[in-house]
Amino acid sequence: MITMEKIVSLCKRRGFIFPSSDIYGGFAAIYDYGPYGVELANAIKREWWKTMVQLRDDIVGLDSAIFMHPKIWEASGHVSGFSDPLVECKDCHTRSRVDHLLEEIGVEADEKMSEEEINKIFLENKEKLKCPNCGRKNFTEAKKFNLLVKSNLGNFTDDWDKKPVYLRGETCQGIYVNYRNVLDSTRVRIPFGIAQIGKAFRNEITARQFLFRTREFDQMEMQYFVHPDKEMDEYEKLRKARWQYYLDLGLKKEHLKWNKHKNLVFYAKAAYDIDYKFPFGFSELEGVHARGNYDLSQHTKFSGKDLSYVDSKTGEKYIPHIIESSVGVGRTVFAVLTEAYTEEKVGKEIRLVMKFPKKLAPVKVAIFPLLRNKPKLVKKAKEIFNDLKTDFVCEFDDNGNIGKRYRRQDEIGTVVGITADFQTLDDNTVTMRDRDTMKQIRVKIPELKDVVQRIIKGENFLELGKLVK
Ligand code: ATP
Repeated sequence: MITMEKIVSLCKRRGFIFPSSDIYGGFAAIYDYGPYGVELANAIKREWWKTMVQLRDDIVGLDSAIFMHPKIWEASGHVSGFSDPLVECKDCHTRSRVDHLLEEIGVEADEKMSEEEINKIFLENKEKLKCPNCGRKNFTEAKKFNLLVKSNLGNFTDDWDKKPVYLRGETCQGIYVNYRNVLDSTRVRIPFGIAQIGKAFRNEITARQFLFRTREFDQMEMQYFVHPDKEMDEYEKLRKARWQYYLDLGLKKEHLKWNKHKNLVFYAKAAYDIDYKFPFGFSELEGVHARGNYDLSQHTKFSGKDLSYVDSKTGEKYIPHIIESSVGVGRTVFAVLTEAYTEEKVGKEIRLVMKFPKKLAPVKVAIFPLLRNKPKLVKKAKEIFNDLKTDFVCEFDDNGNIGKRYRRQDEIGTVVGITADFQTLDDNTVTMRDRDTMKQIRVKIPELKDVVQRIIKGENFLELGKLVK
């Protein structure tokens, strides 16, 4: 059984994820990425960028700022509507999301419902609901709580009518407001997309789900601008592409499912989430939505700038519709960690090994001298390390015995381990151990780079050298 506790504990012990401000007792719903976590997150961002931008001729990248004009959040509807319904326990003062409490007893509710609507359902089911902290049933009424995080930037002047400047609650607003700049400065024509990876901030209430729900997180979002008549066709194509992306990321088909939104916001044409089977059950990994022309219409209205598109061939003028793919880096990291976590029985022991897809593994090669007190072996291993690190993330390790080193590298998910031994000094070959099968082959040192490259690309390990164990 893969539990949340096991993953959280491995992440801390092996340097993937640390609670933020750990020496001060942590800081709720904020996490830091340790040495292996940041490599994993970077690999995920690289894969996403490659799929979304590099391999597509119709999608370009963007990196917009976190701070934006406050009017943007009015136009987007976040100031008035970006809120979750909350109840507070009158006894222990724990706040909970009503829609989540209702979900747990099998009653459908949606965070987007009005305060009145949600209160009606809440009151009908109140007797069945318990505070997740103290177990009592003494709740306040449900209140909507705005998720935007305010800053004091610029508040020392009278600018913007003294309106607060927010830390962005989602990255896509930066895409919408740059739509015209991108159109005017590049060669893209409809249909085209703009992709971006960046931080977003939300005053989340539920703060007990590790990387799944954090108050600061990276989003990877792609907004695709289409002709109104093509919206649903393009939407279906995007859904297919996004499903395939997760299979290519190594998530098993049976751990993924589509979740169709039952309550659509008024402007949306369709909305599905891709849910992943996290240790606490199936939950949203990514949203794939058809948003109509709401976003560009709102920004036209609030900015006073015409954001319509003129087709240069037909002369037709229209406000583009948008379909979007939106996913968090942290949620993806969590899904990939869950999928990789493997406990295997080896002899009488349990081997814990992180079977990351090779392209995502934080460390590709670990290099060991067989014995740390033999200068010739250490020198040889260092030479190999210095050579390989120009192409791959490598680790040199001469701590403890070989068994202990392997155990550590297995828990990090290192793809292969290379050992320089006495035979190396004679014939310039090394043993290479495969993380997943623990088999060992003998490889000539000049061929190492090529062999590692081929293993990462997915070639069969056993065919790349002479089997020795
Ligand atoms: P939820 O219903 O779980 O609160 P949401 O529907 O509000 O999520 P969106 O606003 O559609 O989420 O955000 C798009 C994606 O961004 C989500 O699918 C998720 O991967 C990621 N995301 C959203 N909020 C968070 C968060 N607090 N922590 C980590 N990732 C998040």
